[in-house]
Amino acid sequence: TKVDQNNSNSPQNNADEVFKRNEPGDLTTDSVDTNLEDIPIGETPLEIYRGSYLKVTDITAQAWCEQQLVYSFSVPREVLQTPAMERGTDMHLVKELEVHDIEEVSVVTREDSWAVKFLNIHSALTQLISGSPKIREMPIFGEPFGMGVFFSGIIDEIRWNDKDQLELVEFKTRVKAKTLPSSAQRKTHKLQVSIYKHLFDTAVRGLFRKESLQEHLRLKLDKTLSSSVLDHVKKIGLETNNLNELMDKVLVKFQFLQLISCLTTEYTSQTDFISFASESYDFDEEWLRRQVDESLQFWKGKRDPIGVDIEDAWKCQHCLFEDKCTWRQKMHEECIKKNNVKRAKM
Ligand code: SF4
Repeated sequence: TKVDQNNSNSPQNNADEVFKRNEPGDLTTDSVDTNLEDIPIGETPLEIYRGSYLKVTDITAQAWCEQQLVYSFSVPREVLQTPAMERGTDMHLVKELEVHDIEEVSVVTREDSWAVKFLNIHSALTQLISGSPKIREMPIFGEPFGMGVFFSGIIDEIRWNDKDQLELVEFKTRVKAKTLPSSAQRKTHKLQVSIYKHLFDTAVRGLFRKESLQEHLRLKLDKTLSSSVLDHVKKIGLETNNLNELMDKVLVKFQFLQLISCLTTEYTSQTDFISFASESYDFDEEWLRRQVDESLQFWKGKRDPIGVDIEDAWKCQHCLFEDKCTWRQKMHEECIKKNNVKRAKM
């Protein structure tokens, strides 16, 4: 059984984790956070837009177009949600329900919410260790490469492959044609599974730092969890009162597992719900380190957001913010200037 949390009032609004990820066997939480004053309001994009930590999907959206991601924070979530995205979410839920049930748990504090996430990890790891062929929708956290920013994500699937290796799978849906997405999209998919692997492997190596939750999220690790969460903790046979002890019990489980060996994206058609292609990626740690470092320069306020390169200007045609985008306007003006100079020289 996994546990999920719902902090709709949090600056780090995990709406997609909450509403997309009602995992069977997970606990979903239905109350609001009472500790929001603990989260500092700051001046970096991380603090302004996300509060205290990033979602892995922030990094992948940023890899598509950083400027677009920034604009997206200025509109309500519903505006960004297309029918295709909703269908994709539903398909994820169907896949999830194939492997476990959902259970709701009320949370009162932020510590409760994170406890629920760790209980979901506990559930997934227990299944993998006991030989279940696959688990789905497992939360994962960490501070990649010790770069000073905390990440949170949800892995779609981890399965044992026919070589008894752990394979990490991300599900993507295609709306119409049964074709692979563009290489630009596939690059974001590679980035996503690579970050997940890095975070998972860090925990398997015993390098996940519990203190990072205190430092970044300002959680009180020794605070007693609420009775509803503790009831669930007891139900699954754990003896803990607080997040600190709970994390010990969960993190030790990683040590019984191996590193992720394979990274895969599986593509499913939204028309017939059939998986029609998959793509595997080699893990390149140095490439990932550069990608994360470059992304974090923005989140830490060390540089302004940037839009797409001129060769990726085709992305703007599908962008909700095309009309107001100052980056696009600037690129357009530079192109005109360049062309005029060329004509003048001729
Ligand atoms: Fe990015 Fe182009 Fe959209 Fe501007 S119009 S936000 S550059 S995709």
